Amino acid sequence: PPDVCCLGLAKTFGSGPTATEALRPLDLTFAAGQTTALLGPSGCGKSTLLRLVAGLEAPSAGHVTIGGNSPAQVCARAGLAMAFQDASLLPWRTVRGNIALALTLARQPADPALVERLIALVGLDGFGDRRPAELSGGMRQRVAIARCLAAEPRLLLLDEPFGAVDELTRLRLNFDLPRLWEKRGTTTILVTHSVTEAVLLSDRVLVFSPRPASVVADIAVSLPRP
Ligand code: ADP
Ligand code: ADP
Repeated sequence: PPDVCCLGLAKTFGSGPTATEALRPLDLTFAAGQTTALLGPSGCGKSTLLRLVAGLEAPSAGHVTIGGNSPAQVCARAGLAMAFQDASLLPWRTVRGNIALALTLARQPADPALVERLIALVGLDGFGDRRPAELSGGMRQRVAIARCLAAEPRLLLLDEPFGAVDELTRLRLNFDLPRLWEKRGTTTILVTHSVTEAVLLSDRVLVFSPRPASVVADIAVSLPRP
C-alpha cells in the first residue's frame, strides 16, 4: 500500500490579486520504502509540497495521509523527520546534543554509541563537542541529516539537504544513504537540483513543470547498488 497519499492537494498563499498558487490540485502517491526525488525549476512548489506532507502548512484544498494517518498524528509519534536547506540546529547545543535531542523527542534512549555512529556516518568524527556556530554550513547540514536519521523515522523529508555539503562528502553520502534507507525500509522524499543525485539516491524521479507544478515526468530508476 502507498505510504504517502496526496489527494487533490493544493496550496495558494494569500488571496485576491496578490494570491500565489503554489500548488494546483495534485494527486500523488509515494510507495512505502521507496525514495522519490523531486526535480523542477525554482519556485515550482517542491518545498511547499514537502511542507504540506510534513504538516507544516495547511492545504488550501485536498489532503495528505501517511499510512492512513494525518501528518500531525505521524509527527506526534516522531514517525517523520525533515531536513531543510538551512540546517536549523539548536545553537546552544553541541553536535552531539542536537542529535541526541532527536532521540529524546522520539522518546528513545539517547544511546551515546548510536549518536557516535551517526556522527561518523556523516563524516564528523571529532566534531561532536562543537556548537553549530563553530561549523561550516555544509557541516551543519550534515548534522541535520544525522539528526533526522537518529530516531529511524518511517518517513524522511529532505529539502535540498546537501546544498552546502562539500563534493566528496556529498558523493559518499549519495552512496551510503540509499543503503541505510533500504535496510530500514524508510520512505524518503527528496528535493534536489542535481539530476545525478536524484538518480543515485532514488527509486523514482518526479519532474515538475514551472509553477503551478504538474508532474511532467515520472521515471522509475533501477540502479544496481554497489
Ligand atoms: P520550490 O521549492 O520549488 O522552489 P516553493 O514551494 O518554495 O518552490 O514556492 C512555490 C511558490 O510559492 C513560489 O512562487 C513562492 O514564492 C511561493 N511561496 C512559498 N512559500 C510562500 C509563503 N509562505 N508565502 C507566500 N508565497 C510563498
Ligand atoms: P550537551 O552537549 O550535554 O547536550 P548542550 O551543548 O546541549 O549540552 O547544552 C549546553 C548547555 O546549555 C547545557 O548546560 C544546557 O543545560 C544549556 N541549555 C539548554 N537549553 C538551553 C536554552 N534554551 N537556553 C540556554 N541554554 C540552554
